[in-house]
Amino acid sequence: MAFLVREIIKKKRDGEILTNEEIDWLIQAYAKDEIPDYQMAAWAMAVYQKGMTMVEAAQLTRAMQYSGEVIDLSFIEKPKVDKHSTGGVGDKTSMIVGSIVAANDVCVPMMAGRGLGHSGGTLDKLESIPGFNTQLSVEKFKQQLKEIDHCIIGQTKNICPADKKLYALRDVTATIESIPLICASIMSKKLAEGIDALVLDVKYGTGAFMKTQEKARELALALQAIGEANGKKVTVLLTTMNQVLGHFVGNAVEIWECLEILKDTTSHKKYEDTVILSLALSSEMLCLAGRAKNFDEGYQLAKETLESGKAHEKFERVCHAQGGDLKKLPTAYDPIDLTVSESGYIRSIDVEQIGVAGILIQAGRKKIDDIIDPRSGFEILVKIGDKVEPGQPIAKVFAKNKESAEPASDVLRHAFQFSADTISKEKLIGETIVSTRG
Ligand code: URA
Repeated sequence: MAFLVREIIKKKRDGEILTNEEIDWLIQAYAKDEIPDYQMAAWAMAVYQKGMTMVEAAQLTRAMQYSGEVIDLSFIEKPKVDKHSTGGVGDKTSMIVGSIVAANDVCVPMMAGRGLGHSGGTLDKLESIPGFNTQLSVEKFKQQLKEIDHCIIGQTKNICPADKKLYALRDVTATIESIPLICASIMSKKLAEGIDALVLDVKYGTGAFMKTQEKARELALALQAIGEANGKKVTVLLTTMNQVLGHFVGNAVEIWECLEILKDTTSHKKYEDTVILSLALSSEMLCLAGRAKNFDEGYQLAKETLESGKAHEKFERVCHAQGGDLKKLPTAYDPIDLTVSESGYIRSIDVEQIGVAGILIQAGRKKIDDIIDPRSGFEILVKIGDKVEPGQPIAKVFAKNKESAEPASDVLRHAFQFSADTISKEKLIGETIVSTRG
């Protein structure tokens, strides 16, 4: 059955509910280039303005999932669990979590994304390791999962092609921040990956898409409902992005922080928040995989796996299998200190602006085809509540030249707000919504 795109747009513009057939037809036609971007943009804006019911959002997810290939991992008998973050700055947990969980006889298929806007992307970070290939075929992905339980690749051109087009369109038409559109985009890719269960890290705060915990909870519950309606167990952690996770922001420098954590337990105090969040996410994955009975048991198992070096071993195997040479990880450019002129306590940090400053030194992209400079980035030396004195460095800037370092340092400087009074620390994990499926 064919529909008129204009009528579907009009129906959504007027706040009506679309039928399953209308949604399926629209997405299939768009994936086949039968609908122009200007009509799809108008439809996305109508969805942004009027929202969707859960039934519509679930149907949109299925339509996007089946717009391309759906990976079948049923030939692997182990539980298959992935982790996904809604995006932030300095969030490098995927590299640590995947290795911890896969070292516990769980299959971890990860289809990761690139940085876009102010937020970083796992693929860009991994590609700072010389030779690391994130563009494997589905066949190679399956083979590596069978052999070493873990593989991290980018969305292939056959996986959710409708999402690929729609995501790029939303990015330039101010329609990213729509809960049903985000849900369908994230969950269609996760459902196409062949997993049994998923742990979601939904971020809130100045560096997240969702600025408040309430908005993040709304997104989390919708993501969980769609996953569970499709037979998957989904546990969600709501975590703060009001400050950078760990200390490093960039690409090679973030891999460096991960290697420090994987190799050297004495670094765990310095990178406390990256370590705690990685262990908590791993614990929830181990619970969903049936490797732990409860959060505490999973956390202990994850901690032992990290501290014993088994996670490091797994990460090295994954890098090796995907062609990456960790010995050739580029070093950061020479640091330039960013100092403060006042004394006081760090009151708040505009983390989105740290991501924006990163774009100015090519640690992130302005446009989808910009080239990332793996050697650039920042080391953020302070956390909310820390006391600073005049002349004290609060960050180090790693940039290729002074021309890009100066505007980036300027943006970075304005990202920090100070207070004369002491400031209490915010909880890293705001809440956990455990899967309601057995
Ligand atoms: N990540 C995605 O994959 N899609 C969105 O819409 C937002 C974040």
